[in-house]
Amino acid sequence: MSPAPRAARAGVDRPGTTSSTDGAGDAGQGGDTSAGNGSRAQHRSGAPDRDLSAQMAYLTRVIKAPTIAAAWAELADQARTEGWSHEEYLAAVLSRQVAAREANGTAIRTAGAHFPAVKTLEDFNPDHQPSLRRDILAHLATCTFVPTAGNVVLLGPPGVGKTHLAIGLGIKAVHAGHPVLFDTATGWVTRLRDAHDDGRLPDELRRLRRYHLLIIDEIGYIPFDAHAANLFFQLISSRYEQGSVLATSNMPFSRWGETFGDDVVAAAMIDRLVHHAEVLTLSGDSYRTRNRRELIAKDPATPNRNT
Ligand code: ADP
Ligand code: MG
Repeated sequence: MSPAPRAARAGVDRPGTTSSTDGAGDAGQGGDTSAGNGSRAQHRSGAPDRDLSAQMAYLTRVIKAPTIAAAWAELADQARTEGWSHEEYLAAVLSRQVAAREANGTAIRTAGAHFPAVKTLEDFNPDHQPSLRRDILAHLATCTFVPTAGNVVLLGPPGVGKTHLAIGLGIKAVHAGHPVLFDTATGWVTRLRDAHDDGRLPDELRRLRRYHLLIIDEIGYIPFDAHAANLFFQLISSRYEQGSVLATSNMPFSRWGETFGDDVVAAAMIDRLVHHAEVLTLSGDSYRTRNRRELIAKDPATPNRNT
């Protein structure tokens, strides 16, 4: 990894030549820490001494910086060879730790999101959805809707890529640093019902606030009973202007009353969901059967038939 820009080369204090500060002694007075200037100054080249190694092991443990623990000596060698300033060395060490922490955070958030598959926006073929506004999709991919608690609703028949886009946008949000949680509509209802039965629904709804984006896939595939519809309404209400929801459905809004068994509940829910939302309608044939159709169409041995 290359160090940060070679900024403040001028005025760099070299170890052993300054009396103004003691590099390790942030306690202020005296600066007589266990590894004083003497021991550090001796090791401008070659392996660090045991005191310094032990001190670094201790310090990096205290500040929970294992990547620095693993990288500082090797980077110091590189710094000596390439003549980095102290600032450049410090920046290189810190960047290593920050990069590791970010990668770690992304991995933890990805696992915690419970995506059912890995689907990326980059793998989504927009040519198959000519009516889909690419500018809107590109804007959503920046995830600026998440910090403002905006919502996204993806509507369309089965197989047109709603779940694919939902996961792809969820992955973008995870990479942008947002905690995300994915589940199907029935999965969400089960979760809420369990919480309700245990008398902890308000706690569960509060806990879900820590997720900046909740993905609710497949609204409409299975109709809800009145209790489930009510729980679902509470979920959407609790998110309203507090946190983002990305919902997908094979039903147009006009038919959500059937799914929720109640037109009034459905209307109230749609009202909250779409108030600050991007609603995208996907159309066309199922992508799942597309290849099969194309193969059949191309194969001269296959009689022409509609699938
Ligand atoms: P839906 O949720 O709308 O039923 P899916 O997102 O599950 O559809 O898509 C079905 C399959 O087709 C998935 O494997 C998905 O990755 C793929 N797919 C759908 N649309 C596209 C597309 N435009 N580009 C690439 N793959 C697509
Ligand atoms: Mg789907």
